[in-house]
Amino acid sequence: MKKFRCYTAAGLFLGLLVFFAVLLWDLQVVSGAAYYEKSQQAIARTETVPAARGKLLDRNGKILAQDKVSWVVRVAGDCPEPDLQQLETLCREEGVDWSGVGDITTPTPELLVRVKAADLTRVKVEPMVTRTGSGNLAPHVVGRVGAMPPEQWEVYENAGYPMDARVGQDGAEAAFEDLLHGTDGIRVIHTDRQGEVTGEGYGVQPQPGQDVTLTLDKDLQETLQTALGDFLTARGCSGGAGVVLDVRDGGVLAMASLPGYDTATFSARYTDLAQDPTTPLVNRAIQGLYAPGSTFKLVTAAAALEEGVLTPEAQILDTGRYTYYTTPQPQCWLYRQEGRTHGLETLTEALTDSCNIFFYDAGRRVGIQTLDTWAHALGLGESTGIELAGEGTGVVAGPAYTQSVGGTWYEGSVLSAAIGQENNRFTPLQLAHMTATLVGNGNRWQVHLLRKAGGEVYTPVSLGKVSIATENLKAIKEGMLAVTQTGSLAAAFRDLPVEVGAKTGSAQVGSNRAANAVLVAFAPYEDPQIALALVAEEGGSGSALGEVAAAILEDYFRG
Ligand SMILES: [Zn+2]
Repeated sequence: MKKFRCYTAAGLFLGLLVFFAVLLWDLQVVSGAAYYEKSQQAIARTETVPAARGKLLDRNGKILAQDKVSWVVRVAGDCPEPDLQQLETLCREEGVDWSGVGDITTPTPELLVRVKAADLTRVKVEPMVTRTGSGNLAPHVVGRVGAMPPEQWEVYENAGYPMDARVGQDGAEAAFEDLLHGTDGIRVIHTDRQGEVTGEGYGVQPQPGQDVTLTLDKDLQETLQTALGDFLTARGCSGGAGVVLDVRDGGVLAMASLPGYDTATFSARYTDLAQDPTTPLVNRAIQGLYAPGSTFKLVTAAAALEEGVLTPEAQILDTGRYTYYTTPQPQCWLYRQEGRTHGLETLTEALTDSCNIFFYDAGRRVGIQTLDTWAHALGLGESTGIELAGEGTGVVAGPAYTQSVGGTWYEGSVLSAAIGQENNRFTPLQLAHMTATLVGNGNRWQVHLLRKAGGEVYTPVSLGKVSIATENLKAIKEGMLAVTQTGSLAAAFRDLPVEVGAKTGSAQVGSNRAANAVLVAFAPYEDPQIALALVAEEGGSGSALGEVAAAILEDYFRG
């Protein structure tokens, strides 16, 4: 009997042993991973710590955009009623507006101190980083920072961004996102099983983004925007654009597109801005396509001289009407307006007078194919390489484009193409780039906004070199110099501290509308440093833009 009891006890014990063994096996092997994770969650959790975003600076170190840290009182949705009431009392006493629901985004320092001291449940004081942009100064160029657009989640996720990251939305903020963003850190917070914080530290230290210095000159940008803005307002123009380039390396010194907007109120006003018929969101400087008008005569001139069709001394007789073809037989603007002609002219004189007959004849003799080759070589119809997204490449008039849109190219179409009409359409940036390439001895530099980042200085990139003989370039430049000394810009440019070369255009955009005013210029005459292009929609004569160009040149050379 005793022996039987002994067996029973042993059996029971064995059974229990098996039971515990199975339980242990289940805990450790079958459910082990899940239990382990849960136990770890109870003692440590991680938080992403956003890296400080680098500043955007102008070429002289002036701030264009930077992070600003402010404080916010975060109030959880399940904050107990007595605590909410206490918070309301604190806000009232400190004169801070709060609806009683949600975060307090504009707390005073006094309120922050009192909220912290009150130690309310589900209420936390946290830092909040916002981006202070350049307001209405070059908004299209500087750009904005905002929440990640859903269609870009995947790209950013693959680059290690958390879903709630704020990223560059457009302009330089988007173009230099990689440099500005830095690497987010990971904070590990240790808590005990009751949830009390027992310690914290960085799993990964955040690496701040780099400061990015742009080629832009903030003061020159202000001058461009103010001078062009005043002109557009005075003439009732729907919009316009201006670009100032460094001839020596393709850097953008100033770039304006008007009307613009204020980056600070962009989000609140987005619907209005997007529906505005004057399209303030479009960066006209790189996306607006405009007929170049007579500024294109610079291309025809370079082609005619370099292809040996003309020499600088050769003369062409302006007969008022160009009768080479039966049709068309276009007239010189002077003949149409005043019934007289420019008579015998050299290329230099014809550039100064902007004689149409001279360039009809030069263009016809060069031929449309060669003319197009020259336009492309000088950067028209080509990407300038600027870092901003959405650059338009324009249209070089010719049989290829006309046929691509189902039209018919006529032999005589070369005449209007040679004076910048027909289908020629370029961005203001391209017109500035063409001018810079021409007067910079044919060196076509990639247009850029990046000057410096993280101690590394941008190296200019060549997009090619157009060969232009010294005497040919001299003939073209002399024609442009005379425009500002004795020609249509003489009055506006009279008091400038440097000699300037320029060419104006009045590009027809329709029979019932005023012409678009176009102007390109470079300075100093002997050793060009800057080239600029201005366009005013329905601004009439290009020479009217002389005062705008003079204000920019005055600022740059006299400061
Ligand atoms: Zn003429």
